Amino acid sequence: MENCIFCKIVAGEIPAHKVYENDEMIIFKDIEPKAKIHLLCVPKEHFAYLTELNEDRAALLARMMETIARIKDELGLEDGYRLVINQGEAAGQTVHHLHIHILGGEKLDWE
Ligand code: 5GP
Ligand code: ZN
Repeated sequence: MENCIFCKIVAGEIPAHKVYENDEMIIFKDIEPKAKIHLLCVPKEHFAYLTELNEDRAALLARMMETIARIKDELGLEDGYRLVINQGEAAGQTVHHLHIHILGGEKLDWE
C-alpha cells in the first residue's frame, strides 16, 4: 500500500526498532511511547480497520494476540500488559494500517 508508514516499516524502507518478527506480523517500539513499554503489533498484510475483519483476518488477529501472550516475558511484560486497538478517527486512529498497541512495563492507570 503506497504511502502507508507501517507498510514501509514492514518492507524495511523506514527504520523501526523491531523486537519480534515472523512471516505474518512484526512487533516494534512505538516512536512516541505512552507507557514505559509501548510496542505496536502490526500484520504484514495491509488492511486499515477492525471493521474490515473477515474470517482470515480475525484468525490472524487471534494469532497476533496469541503470539504476544507467548513472548510476553521476552518483551518485559511478565507482570501484565494492556492491548488497545483504536478504530477510526474518533478513537484517535492516526495510522490507517491495523495495529495493536501493547502497553506495559509499569502499573497502568485506567481512566
Ligand atoms: P494510532 O493513533 O493510529 O492508534 O497509533 C499510531 C501509533 O503509531 C502512534 O502511537 C504513533 O506514535 C506510532 N507511530 C507513528 N508513526 C510511527 C513511526 O514512524 N514509527 C514508529 N515506531 N511508530 C510510529
Ligand atoms: Zn499499510
